[in-house]
Parts: sequence; structure tokens; C-alpha cells
Amino acid sequence: MGEPSPFWVIKCPDCSGEQTVFSRPSTKVNCSVCGATLATPTGGQAEIRGEKLRVLSV
Ligand SMILES: [Zn+2]
Repeated sequence: MGEPSPFWVIKCPDCSGEQTVFSRPSTKVNCSVCGATLATPTGGQAEIRGEKLRVLSV
């Protein structure tokens, strides 16, 4: 099945911190700096809150 899922670098809309987030997380991902929710699991690709700065391919 397909390629490995990438990681995304997300910019937190609340504190502008950058965090690497798995694109298909199984649990909610919070900003490590301020605790804001950055990614919500959907069963597929996460719903992102904040700006997706770039994709890290693995
Ligand atoms: Zn933050």
C-alpha cells in the first residue's frame, strides 16, 4: 500500500512555534510550547490548525 506517510512542520497559530507532526496521528497533537491543539485525528490525514510550513519526507 502506498508511500509512507509524511511528517508536517506546523506553525502554531497561537505562539508561532514550529512543531513536527505526523500527518496521520492517532491522537490529538498539542503544541509543545503553549499546549494549543495543532492536529486532530480524523482516521486519515489529520485536520491541521495552523500553517503547514513544509513536508518532511521519510
Ligand atoms: Zn503554541
